[in-house]
Amino acid sequence: MTNSAIFIDRDGTISDEVGYVNHVSRYRVFPFSGEAIKLINVSPLKSVLVTNQAGVARGYFKEEVIGQVHSKLREELGNHGAKLDAIYYCPHHPTVGEPPYRQECNCRKPKPGLLHRAADDLSINLQNSYMIGDRYSDVKLAHSVGARGVLVLTGYGRGEYEYQRDQWTREPDYVAEDLLGAVKWILGEEAKD
Ligand SMILES: [Mg+2]
Ligand SMILES: [Zn+2]
Repeated sequence: MTNSAIFIDRDGTISDEVGYVNHVSRYRVFPFSGEAIKLINVSPLKSVLVTNQAGVARGYFKEEVIGQVHSKLREELGNHGAKLDAIYYCPHHPTVGEPPYRQECNCRKPKPGLLHRAADDLSINLQNSYMIGDRYSDVKLAHSVGARGVLVLTGYGRGEYEYQRDQWTREPDYVAEDLLGAVKWILGEEAKD
């Protein structure tokens, strides 16, 4: 018995893209995110956040800031009765900073390490899963593991969609205005099966 999941990028997707969130006070959850995650929670799918936080390797902030930010995220989602089933992050960078954060890891998206870790921990079948993000690299990551990829137009999404689309090797499975639209599309697809 395996689970399906919706993997969700953090900055630009569930919360505002403000550059490096080097202090919890900079972190802004989008107003629609609680409703979106709640919809996942009442479906059979798991909700899993996956985020690159190379600001740690770059020395812009300590790893504990990530924990503070994720506490704030969980609290705000909780206000809507919503919860993430798991959160995974990559604090590494291949060339900047000091070890252990400076390393050629397998978890910095679009590498698939975070998804594989989640798949092991939560018995997720990646081929029946989805990844939502505001970068085409998130869509590519989805396709590289056999999942479906949804681009949202929040964060970097609109710019990538308007100016980079001609370089895409494979279209996203869906392009949504925002996380809520993406989740509604996915749950509609799931209802077809
Ligand atoms: Mg992003
Ligand atoms: Zn990593």
